[in-house]
Amino acid sequence: QNPVHQASADTVMAVVEANDRTELAPDIIDFDASRAAGGYHLYETMRSGEHDVDEVLGVLDTAILRGLGGAGFPAARKWRTVMAQPAPRNMAVNIDEGEPGTFKDRHYLGRDPHRFIEGMLIAARVVGIAAIWIYIRDEYPAVRKMLITELDKVRAAWPDLPPIEVRRGAGAYICGEESAMIESIEGKRGMPRLRPPYVAEVGLFGRPTLVHNPETLWWVRDIVDTSLVQGYDWLEKRGRNGRQGLRSFSVSGRVAKPGVIVTDAGITLRQLIDEHCGGMAPGHELYGYFPGGASGGMLPASLADVPLDFDTLAPYGCFIGSAAIVVFSQHDKARALAENAMHFFAHESCGQCTPCRVGTGKAAGLMAAKTWDAPLLEELGSAMMDASICGLGQAAPNPVRSVLRYFPHEVGATPADARAGEGAA
Ligand code: SF4
Repeated sequence: QNPVHQASADTVMAVVEANDRTELAPDIIDFDASRAAGGYHLYETMRSGEHDVDEVLGVLDTAILRGLGGAGFPAARKWRTVMAQPAPRNMAVNIDEGEPGTFKDRHYLGRDPHRFIEGMLIAARVVGIAAIWIYIRDEYPAVRKMLITELDKVRAAWPDLPPIEVRRGAGAYICGEESAMIESIEGKRGMPRLRPPYVAEVGLFGRPTLVHNPETLWWVRDIVDTSLVQGYDWLEKRGRNGRQGLRSFSVSGRVAKPGVIVTDAGITLRQLIDEHCGGMAPGHELYGYFPGGASGGMLPASLADVPLDFDTLAPYGCFIGSAAIVVFSQHDKARALAENAMHFFAHESCGQCTPCRVGTGKAAGLMAAKTWDAPLLEELGSAMMDASICGLGQAAPNPVRSVLRYFPHEVGATPADARAGEGAA
């Protein structure tokens, strides 16, 4: 063995092992521990016929479980749509958690994977799924290895499960888009499809496909089991500022204690920082924040009291998406963050459609100027939003527009430019 190669292999293994440690909690709940704590009880009651499909769908309707990958589509409605399609139906779980600032899926899977697996099996049973693919990003090698081990244990317990295949992504942000993920699983280049038809009708290998984020499935057991026994009080009691239920926030940036926080839907950024993050990091004052990763736009400190939830941020030109809250301070520049986001989108664009492929690069170039050409950036942003095939190109202008609207002083924009950003948002 060449000693240089051996040293390099040792370094790689050290990095992989370090990743293993950071991805997985030391006290991960494995199959036996999950069973001992009552895991798979709900799944078994479904298998025995104690709870039927309509009962489960009714609970999810009442509790309003929404898709937590970012779109927020009601889960039960999605299940019914796929159920209405002819068999065989497929399922694809999207663990390509690539939105900058989002790490909740890794958090949940690295601690309690069987809560997710049970939710997945319940969904598969309700919808009548013939085969399941789990698509997991390459950057989570320890989670992937652990899931494969734990799935073997689950298969040993219930040998009649539908086939479950774990597929590894290859580092493309766009493969978090459901139809690009499906293309990738099919062995093709990960590029979003034109719709219609929607993946619920014509999805993986041409079959109707139920696509879910793992966190959506992670909540199924708690919502169905607890609600059937205790009623809906536990969920209805949660929520603030006119919103209802619980949400997971991935909080990072200039706060004292970043991390995944499960708390009331509708909590404000100020409440989140004060009550759950130990305040701002020493020496930092709130200047602004991304409420939904790089795609969801930016808000200034003056809007730290807006309820954070699906649908609440549209009047401000933002969206919550996967609830990746990135907090920045007086030591940061919003324009630098927006430029960084645009370079990211330009790099990750699949290149299929011109408004996104050319627009992201053009916008990044315009944003490098000391004084921004606001009318041109606005016009470019409108073309990208209106004409891009998928959410990447449609959302890429959001941080630019946020800077023009809320931080115009940083880019030499005029009040009229700021108003233009407001109107466009
Ligand atoms: Fe690809 Fe961008 Fe078009 Fe989406 S918007 S299909 S990422 S080029």
